[in-house]
Amino acid sequence: MLSLVKVFTLLIRSNANKPLFNASPSLYKPVVGLLYQPLRTFKVRTAVKCYCKDCYMVRRKGRVYVYCKSNGKHKQRQGR
Ligand SMILES: [Zn+2]
Repeated sequence: MLSLVKVFTLLIRSNANKPLFNASPSLYKPVVGLLYQPLRTFKVRTAVKCYCKDCYMVRRKGRVYVYCKSNGKHKQRQGR
């Protein structure tokens, strides 16, 4: 237990001089996730289209989805 506390205090001391942004990415990642939409969501468009050869259209729940194997940014969903 004592050694664990020592390690912890050492970690805090080593990060004390650095700005929080560089210190530990895991700390601010959830905050960034709240501000920005994660990559997994779809772009909602009135008209969807394939951007590259890996894009493919799927019809699900009455909506047209575009998935892409190579680029996650190509994922789209046809709006309402
Ligand atoms: Zn694509």
